[in-house]
Amino acid sequence: MSEANKEKRKIKPWKNPMPAQDPAQRAKNFNEVALGYSEGAVVAEANRCLMCINEPCRQGCPVEVDIPAFIKLAAGRDFAGSASKLKEKNALPAVCGRVCPQENQCEKYCTLGRKHQPVGIGRIERFVADWELARGVRVQDRTPATGRKVAIIGSGPAGLTCAADLAKLGHKVTIFEALHVAGGVLMYGIPEFRLPKAVVQSEVGNLEKLGVEIKVNAVVGKIATVDELIQEEGFDAVFIGTGAGLPYFMQIPGENACGVYSANEFLTRTNLMKAYRFPACDTPIRVGRKVAVLGGGNVAMDSARTALRLGAEESWIVYRRSRVELPARHEEVEHAEEEGVKFAFLTYPTRITYDDNYWVTGMECIRCELGEPDSSGRRSPVPIKGSEYFMDIDTVVVAIGQGPNPLVPRTTQGLELNRKGNIVADPSTGATSKPGVYAGGDVVTGAATVILAMGAGRTAAKSIHAYLTGKY
Ligand code: FAD
Ligand code: SF4
Repeated sequence: MSEANKEKRKIKPWKNPMPAQDPAQRAKNFNEVALGYSEGAVVAEANRCLMCINEPCRQGCPVEVDIPAFIKLAAGRDFAGSASKLKEKNALPAVCGRVCPQENQCEKYCTLGRKHQPVGIGRIERFVADWELARGVRVQDRTPATGRKVAIIGSGPAGLTCAADLAKLGHKVTIFEALHVAGGVLMYGIPEFRLPKAVVQSEVGNLEKLGVEIKVNAVVGKIATVDELIQEEGFDAVFIGTGAGLPYFMQIPGENACGVYSANEFLTRTNLMKAYRFPACDTPIRVGRKVAVLGGGNVAMDSARTALRLGAEESWIVYRRSRVELPARHEEVEHAEEEGVKFAFLTYPTRITYDDNYWVTGMECIRCELGEPDSSGRRSPVPIKGSEYFMDIDTVVVAIGQGPNPLVPRTTQGLELNRKGNIVADPSTGATSKPGVYAGGDVVTGAATVILAMGAGRTAAKSIHAYLTGKY
């Protein structure tokens, strides 16, 4: 579109605002924070799109959604058509519309973003997906059955995307999931107030309508190994999408005390086991008066915000670098601050103290300053001598990262792993060192994002299809 035409259309410089629950109110409940666009707002936002001929936004979408096409349909109020267009490429649009870091993906490339705010692609995606979920989803077309069987291990975004693509191509797909419910981190990690579990389950249900079989409580490596799935259960190919669910700890004294959780346990108890409804639900959780969450990523923000909702008087993010280096999404940091989460920047915990019954009583910390950049390119924290101080807290949540789930890599012969225990897979095909076995998502890359895991699932599905149909 020419400059003159853009001027004629008077493009609004800002995204249409996303309505949200009031911070003071939402910090006390688990209901969704962002409330979603109205029909009027979505049409207005879709009409901000310039319909660029070169479609730069598309290069930022790992699952290759035809972004301008679905936006154009939404702009014309054809929401059913828009949803169909989205789902040609994205099996989990209502999930992506909520948690995908669009600012670093499609929206980063949006032409409007050069001078103004980019089109709210994720917000439009969320509206369209929700619109269809509320009215009943049209099952997508499948090609005739090929008679080939694929096992998918893990039902996170990587496994679900791989399963959907292979099912559409006519293969018989079975997902094996270790937990009692499918969805991976979408169910056990990301809190209800950011991603309602009913939304995830609706999208998982759509996969079942495509013919995908989901076996829950099925821990591969225990019930059967990858080799047994191929040799004894007749699977022609296997995709491993077991994620990065193994929490890292600080390795400081006192980390074994009562009242210290890994973020993984803290969030799983809350989200999946609904500890906030205890005793109506079986799983309890203890949150003290003052909670310290160690780390600065999305997982840390989710833990700190969850602690407030569970009744903590104070919830602190303790981060060894400064605000600038926080790896969490900007929006998540803002939401946490609005709700009352406090931040102790440039702070490094050195010891957790505890009483005679091993319950946490506080944390010894040292202040830091920023030194030279480390291998990650970020300036590294350097402790300041004599700046030690005591933090009065009674619960600690460690959210400093996760490694790959080790069971499948450990029980699969001939699978090449890297130094950190991640499966080595060709990024352009998902192929591992073992013929017929593919892998993708966090188990390959380390903890990353939903959309990168989905992109890896899609890449592997294409290669598995080629492998099964002899087109290699
Ligand atoms: P996962 O989602 O981890 O799924 C792996 C599945 O495999 C799990 O269900 C697991 O139970 C199952 N499994 C493991 N071992 C076995 C076995 N032996 N047999 C059978 N099943 C097995 N990303 C974003 O883009 N935006 C966000 O806002 C965001 N927030 C996050 C918040 C939290 C708290 C966390 C923990 C992560 C967040 N992420 C976010 C990251 C994102 O969720 C992950 O990158 C993504 O889920 C990885 O997908 P995956 O399919 O590789 O693995
Ligand atoms: Fe629309 Fe932005 Fe994509 Fe251009 S880059 S087509 S303005 S969403």
